[in-house]
Amino acid sequence: MGLDSGVTPETAKVLVVGAGGIGCELLKNLVDLDVIELSNLNRQFLFRRQHIGQAKAKVAAEAVKSMVPDANITPYWANIKDTTQFPFSFFRTFDVVLNALDNLDARRYVNNMCLSASVPLVESGTSGYLGQCSVILPCDSECFDCTPKEKPKTFPVCTIRTTPSSLVHCIVWAKEYLMTNLLGPPTEDALPEDEALLESLKRETEAFVAIRDMGHANSVLYSRKVFSKVFFDDITSLVSLTELWENRDPPTPLSIDFDSVEEFDMRQADDHQIWTLSSWIAVFRSSIEILCKRAFANNSFTEIYFDKDDEDVMSFVAAAANIRAHIFGIPLASHFSLKSMAGNIIPAIATTNAIVAGMIVLQALNILNREKARCVTAFLTYGVRRGTLFACERYLPPNQDCATCQVDRAIASLDPTKTTLGLFLDSITDAYNSIRGVNIAKRECTVLEGTRMLYDEDFADNAERLLSELDCGDSRFIRVDFWDANVPLLVVIDKSDKVQFSFTSERQNRKRKHMAEDIGKDTNDDLSKEVNDDIDEDITQPPTKMARLLIADEDVVVV
Ligand SMILES: [Zn+2]
Repeated sequence: MGLDSGVTPETAKVLVVGAGGIGCELLKNLVDLDVIELSNLNRQFLFRRQHIGQAKAKVAAEAVKSMVPDANITPYWANIKDTTQFPFSFFRTFDVVLNALDNLDARRYVNNMCLSASVPLVESGTSGYLGQCSVILPCDSECFDCTPKEKPKTFPVCTIRTTPSSLVHCIVWAKEYLMTNLLGPPTEDALPEDEALLESLKRETEAFVAIRDMGHANSVLYSRKVFSKVFFDDITSLVSLTELWENRDPPTPLSIDFDSVEEFDMRQADDHQIWTLSSWIAVFRSSIEILCKRAFANNSFTEIYFDKDDEDVMSFVAAAANIRAHIFGIPLASHFSLKSMAGNIIPAIATTNAIVAGMIVLQALNILNREKARCVTAFLTYGVRRGTLFACERYLPPNQDCATCQVDRAIASLDPTKTTLGLFLDSITDAYNSIRGVNIAKRECTVLEGTRMLYDEDFADNAERLLSELDCGDSRFIRVDFWDANVPLLVVIDKSDKVQFSFTSERQNRKRKHMAEDIGKDTNDDLSKEVNDDIDEDITQPPTKMARLLIADEDVVVV
């Protein structure tokens, strides 16, 4: 299983990535590890948070600590992709990683890190009533990238509130933020830690309270106030946060005489056409006046929720999203396409998150108890198959065409400020030849960092430069394509004073060969045979994570 010997569920060091919907449920479950049973899962429903996606890592950790004072939890409120705070070596210190993430990019990043670090990963996700949880055992199972994924449907709060870059971000803002603050129940947002940004966003939300009160008296004044607040005042204060705009274009506050914009009859217009900005402003003005009258009818306040089939609501959301898009330099869209985009965004459901968090814990226990045969991909299939809430299948072997896991991987422990690209290449070639029993010539390779070319036959000048000068410092992944090797070698830099190269075990190759021989046989039989083989292997041999090679003074020593 890739676990160090002696690790048990009680002593395991676990990394939970994400403290949103699934993460909060998961944290509550984790500290309760030894008593979790299927019948307990419904309890999570009692523990669920009042609102989805609003907790911070620190608040969540404190809440859990107050329940279980002995739990040793370290919260980080930061981006998991920040290699200064979470270098490659950070990932290697964990026995298992549990992903509770809401975006594809971070999931793929953690998947890649865990594959190189040889740390088992439990991956999960929910979408409305549907949920999924799977295990990723380096070299043994499918990795996150083995099956292509649909586009993400949820977005980070900061992107929505401060730096939208696509129309979908503007739709989410109009639908979830603007609608809720003007016409829905009061909410708290998950707010950023940056002090200036936090203050700015707090002021933004507080100002809605005053505007709401205005709605009782005068719908025209109300619509004018809302317009100038969200499209001029709030944008102006965002622009003043100069740090936000160092690497992107700032928005332009919309300065326009709201009352003088001509009326626009959208019922007479083609809703497949992209209307002008002033048409959208007219739609915004008329729809918000209607919604204001609806919400404040009979001297009381009636909440109005997003419903794509409610024409007033949909016109308001479409207009607000398009006006915001204009402000941020994003191309506008037709009412028709906006409606379909807005309707497709699936809400998160706390119950689904709670159930999936339970699945994650069960999978983590299977891994930590070394019960590979019980590791499964589990699906929550409510509404998909009649009478079936759960479906389970044994995890699949890696997809042989996967560009992420079907590569050779190595860890280069070295000091990038003292190692040239040339020395790095020569050393890794020696190490590769030694461990693979091949004889690949030095410098006959193409080298990339991401999509950036570092070295090639016709691009050899970089060989004399230090890795740090080439922006290949700690935790960078360098891809070496030896011309004479079948698969690329993906090397991660692990900053260290001691020079050492470690390759992921030979197991991956053996497994590939094994599968190639078995082509044509029943896959289930193959898999159970493999699983049984692996269980025997785990019992008879203490797990060794890596075949290690030590390189010092150009001598190659296999340890
Ligand atoms: Zn893969």
